[in-house]
Parts: sequence; structure tokens; C-alpha cells
Amino acid sequence: MTLLTVWVPGDQLLETHPALERAVAEVGRAHVRVVLIESARKLASRRWHRQKRVLVLSALRHYAEALRAQGYAVDYRQAESITAGLREHVREFQPDRLVTMAASEYAARQAQMAFRQRLGLPVEVLPNTQFLVGQYDPFPGTQKRIILENFYRAMRRHFKVLMEGAEPVGGQWNFDKDNRKPLPKTLTPPPAFQVEPDAITRQVMAEVDADGIGVGEIDGFAYAVTHAEARAALADFIAHRLDSFGPYEDAMTTRHATLYHSVLSPYVNLGLLTPLEMVHTAEAAYREGRAALNSVEGFIRQVIGWREYMYWQYWRMMPALAESNSWSAERPLPDFFWTGETNMNCLRQTINGALKTGYSHHIQRLMLVSNFCLMAGIHPQAVVEWFMSLYIDAYDWVMQSNVVGMGLNADGGMIATKPYIASASYINRMSDYCKGCRFDHTARTGADACPFNTLYWNFLIEHEAALRANPRSGPAVLGLNRLDADERTAIQSAASAFLKSL
Ligand code: FAD
Ligand code: SF4
Repeated sequence: MTLLTVWVPGDQLLETHPALERAVAEVGRAHVRVVLIESARKLASRRWHRQKRVLVLSALRHYAEALRAQGYAVDYRQAESITAGLREHVREFQPDRLVTMAASEYAARQAQMAFRQRLGLPVEVLPNTQFLVGQYDPFPGTQKRIILENFYRAMRRHFKVLMEGAEPVGGQWNFDKDNRKPLPKTLTPPPAFQVEPDAITRQVMAEVDADGIGVGEIDGFAYAVTHAEARAALADFIAHRLDSFGPYEDAMTTRHATLYHSVLSPYVNLGLLTPLEMVHTAEAAYREGRAALNSVEGFIRQVIGWREYMYWQYWRMMPALAESNSWSAERPLPDFFWTGETNMNCLRQTINGALKTGYSHHIQRLMLVSNFCLMAGIHPQAVVEWFMSLYIDAYDWVMQSNVVGMGLNADGGMIATKPYIASASYINRMSDYCKGCRFDHTARTGADACPFNTLYWNFLIEHEAALRANPRSGPAVLGLNRLDADERTAIQSAASAFLKSL
């Protein structure tokens, strides 16, 4: 009888896994063995956030338990590397074939392609089902620049999400004019969803704590690690936060770390939730009158718009994307990124929050951290390394596209048509950070000038020609016309002094 091994990588913890389904359909459950591997090399490959290590390891161990409860034979291994673990497995169990699903990260998929040769047995790699673009590519094979809006509309139409026939529900695709508000002082968002660690998670926490490796705090770990818990997190978001998601999705505050965001990226990226489950649940809340359309559309845009678009861009631009550096940024990352010790209140709050939980919301990632790094000329891969290390939901596919593409605009503008740069006036409008800051958010030169202002104007001056050539950055760069030669010189020397101080 044919014996099949199914290898499920640690970020593919799908309840319905195509490789398992295929193997069982072919030979029956009794002839299928699942191999799950903790790779020491992967765990030691960078300074991962401790809570990220706990999340990934605990979710994998819970997945093994769930498969055993369904009657699968599970070979759970701690090995030097994935390949070493698979080799040991093949030697011990002598399967006839290995079945697996295509990895979502470039390097891991390259490695999968070499398995047949390295393991010495037939290897079947099935298409990845964790992303909707695996089922439907709206622009197959194109080399052209495709903007998010067109991609998103095609996804909505194809998957019939928030549609009335051929038209978008509510008669428009976008409700941004109702969104993007600062958080009123009188409004306090509900608490974030939290899960009490069980015995498996506590065991992993003790192991991660004992080896002392990595960054960030481990105490307070409260993430979901099973499908049921991730589904409870989704239900909690739909019931308590979705309705206000849209208006406050760009707001930042010292009073609340997660506001009305879903905090579901750690789960959907691991396979504990699926994107369609997320959007269908949100759409049902709108149709049943439990959430406003501007919020539901805003959330759905994030999931089947931005998330799928980023994965799609990653795969059409790799491996060149990881080498891109179109603003020729060469500066190393300042040390304060690893400690949070900076006088810039907005960055201090964001970095300390990330060190505490591995999470920041989108605008903190984009308009604070990336904005600062772009304007300060930090090398894109130094920024990628920091995000990869610190964030609970970080994987190469989401990192290269969001950091190199969207955040740093280092990809030649394929993902974002203009650089996302902003001075303190945006940060002050959207947050309460500036009130508690040692810097003056209205000044761009002088001892108290906000570094975001100095760097913003310096960036415009330094890259004036390139920015003027881009019609989308016009209004920002036109502000330069108001600066005389003395002001330009003062800004450039203030920026140079600040950058040297880093
Ligand atoms: P919500 O605001 O509640 O949004 C809902 C969902 O939409 C998210 O859970 C996520 O799955 C999806 N989503 C929204 N925008 C994006 C996007 N641009 N790319 C991918 N998914 C998106 N997302 C990650 O999953 N992992 C990362 O490591 C990551 N790093 C980022 C770094 C930078 C510089 C930027 C600009 C964005 C990054 N994002 C990343 C995208 C986005 O910021 C996060 O998905 C989001 O903040 C996660 O929090 P949430 O679940 O509360 O999101
Ligand atoms: Fe950030 Fe500048 Fe505001 Fe301080 S003044 S919080 S550095 S934007």
C-alpha cells in the first residue's frame, strides 16, 4: 500500500489543508502521516520577538494535537532545519511520496523545489490556497503598474463581496470621506481581545523565556493559538469594533494600542483564519444591520484588497523587490529602534508598544516608522529586518511588499504611486502624541524643531526633481516654492545635524 507523508509548514495551519485532503482522498487516513517540524535554524535566524516565537510554536503544537484528535498519525519533530527534519522523517518512516502546499515566501518555495533531489523521493507541491489570488488572478502575467483600486474592484466582483449584481453595495466602491478621523477625547475603544495561555502555551513561554534569545517582552502573551480561539477573536472584533473601524482606522493615541483594529493579521497569516471567512463575517454584520457600510467596506478593502494585492505584488516582483532601493538609502537603522529610547514621543510610543506585544496598527507602521525611515534614508533591508524581528504577523511576503514597496517607496513606485511622507502636522492632526513630546510640532528648524518636519522638508529639497516629475506628489512638492534659499539651507543643515546625531 502506498504511504504518503504530508508536510505542513508552520505558517500553513489551515483547518482544511489541501495536501491533507489530497493525501487522504488518494490512500485513506490510515496511510497518511503528517510531519510538523520546529526548525532550530529558523528560530535562530534573527532576533524574533519572543511573543512571535511563542505564537508560532504554540500554534504548531496545538495544530499537532488537533490532527491527532482527528485520528492522524503525526510525527512532530524538533530538528536542526526543515530539510534535516524531513530527512530524518523519511529515513524513519520510508514514505513513498511527500505531499505539501506551495510556501508563501520566496526562499521557502525555492527550497521546496529542491526537495525531490535533497530527500530522494517524489515530492508533490500543491498550489497555495491561503490567498484568494491563488484561485483568481485579476491581471495575469501583466508587467504594468496596477493600482490597488482596480485590483480591489476586480476581487470584489469576482468573489461577489459587498455587491448588488454588478454594482457595489451602497452605489460606491469607497467610503473614505466618512473615515480617517482622529479619535475624540470622549471616546474610549473597547479592550483588545485576549486569550489566557493554556498549558501548551505556558510550556512554550517557559522554553522561550529560558533561552533568553530575541527581543520584546514575553509576559502578557494573550494571542489566540487555535482555530477556535482565532474565530472567537474574529467574533469579538465583529461584535465590538467593526462598526467604528472605518472612522478611526487612521487615528493614533497614547490611550489605546489597538483602537478599533481587528488584530487578526497574526491569525490569517498563520492559517488559523481564512480571508474569505473574515470578509463574509464582516459582510453579514452589515447585511444584518450590526455594522455601518463605511466601516465594513473599509475592513473588506484591507483584507481582499490590500492583503491580496501585497501578496500578488510580492510574487510578481520577487526576487528583485528585495534588492530595490530606488531612493539610494544607505544609512543603518538607529539603535533606538531596538530599545524605544528616543525623545520623539510618537516613535517611542510605537516602538515600546511593538516591544511589548509585537503589534502596531497600520498607520503607526506606515506614517510613523516607515515615514521616518524613508525620510531619514535608512537602508530598506535594515528596515525589513527590524519589522521582521519585531512584528507578530511578519513574513517575507508581507514585509517586502509593505516595507520596501508601500512604506519606503523603494520599488520604483510599482506598489504605491508616490512616497508616503508626512510632517508633524499630519501626526498632530491624527494623534495626541505631539502634546506629550519634547519637540515642537510647528517648528522645522531650531533646537526644538520636530525631526519629522526637518526631515520632511529636507526630503523634498533633496529629491525635488524626482518629486516634481511625479504628478501625484505635486501638491506636497509645491510647498517648496514658499521656501527661500536661506530657509532651504537652514533646513538642510538642521537635517544633516539630526541625521549625524542618530
Ligand atoms: P486591520 O487594520 O484590522 O486590517 C484588517 C486586515 O487587513 C489585517 O488583519 C490584515 O490581514 C489585512 N491588511 C491590511 N492592510 C494590509 C497590508 N498592507 N498588507 C497585508 N495585509 C493587510 N501586515 C502583516 O500582516 N504583517 C506585517 O508584518 C506587516 N507589516 C507592515 C509593515 C508596514 C511598513 C506597513 C505599512 C504595513 C504592514 N502590514 C503588515 C500591513 C498592516 O499594517 C497590518 O496587516 C495591520 O496593521 C495588522 O493589524 P490588524 O490585524 O489590526 O489590521
Ligand atoms: Fe512625533 Fe514630532 Fe509630534 Fe514629537 S512633535 S510626537 S517627534 S511628530
